[in-house]
Amino acid sequence: MAVAEVGDDVYGEDPTVNRLQAIAAEMLQKEAALFVSSGTQGNLLGLLSHCERGDEYIVGQQAHTYRYEGGGAAVLGSIQPQPLDFLPDGTLDLGRVQSLIKPDDFHFAKTRLLCLENTQAGKVLPMDYLAQAFALAGSNYLGLHLDGARIFNAAVKLRVPVHEIARHADTVSVCLSKGLGAPVGSLLCGPAHLIQKALRWRKMLGGGMRQAGILAAAGIVALTSHVERLAEDHDHAGFLAQKLSEIAEIRIDLDAVQTNMVFMETPAQSSTLLSSFLKDHDFFITRHDHPVSSRIPYFGSF
Ligand SMILES: *Cc1c(COP(=O)(O)O)cnc(C)c1O
Repeated sequence: MAVAEVGDDVYGEDPTVNRLQAIAAEMLQKEAALFVSSGTQGNLLGLLSHCERGDEYIVGQQAHTYRYEGGGAAVLGSIQPQPLDFLPDGTLDLGRVQSLIKPDDFHFAKTRLLCLENTQAGKVLPMDYLAQAFALAGSNYLGLHLDGARIFNAAVKLRVPVHEIARHADTVSVCLSKGLGAPVGSLLCGPAHLIQKALRWRKMLGGGMRQAGILAAAGIVALTSHVERLAEDHDHAGFLAQKLSEIAEIRIDLDAVQTNMVFMETPAQSSTLLSSFLKDHDFFITRHDHPVSSRIPYFGSF
């Protein structure tokens, strides 16, 4: 980062940003890639590049793009979400998806896009499912956007090159700042005409950065030397989950611990004690109070 060669990226003249984008486009085998400030911005630009005002996207009820991004697609893009529950394996039931595609009738929003997430809460979507979902989208004239914040975790877990996953989507967002360890940044990858639209929206949203090569340099390290090491995170998460499952008070679904995320449930009365105890030992967890259950889920991520 200290020695990164920089220029003005608003004019497309930062050589380090351009190199990062070229590397990402090559790895995912997409025509173009765009460096953005965050995963949330990458997803929003993906949705905005596919959809116009009054269009609709089909998305998981618990998906990051729908639930954890402040409703940006609706607020800033006037894009209506059509959410449905994920199945336990992180997929959307394709029969249900088909039935939610609206007919071409002015009573309805125009269904334009299917949005998937891989990994979904750490779970890896099966390759044959991705192919079926992309075929369903194509035969209904829908685009497919993949929230691939953690796509490299999926690729490492399946031992496939990342483009084997990315080929089943039009656009893919990728986080550099999760397991890959860069301090800041994500990428939106896809066909040139959509990335061109995303570039315009990025500027409008205030995401056009100037000498961003300092940040992109860390992104290059993330993509070129941290991907294989995700396997170590997966091993650590599996080991943690296994040991936690041996504690009587803890409930944990070991089948759901496939990559780098561990979710567990503890009795409500231990939750406060546990989180402060762990904090005293420099171990940070995210705590979600469950609205219906007296048990409180935790999650940790590497
Ligand atoms: C982290 C994450 C994002 C983006 O989050 P930012 O904090 O905006 O970078 C999007 N989708 C998923 C699945 C994520 O895990």
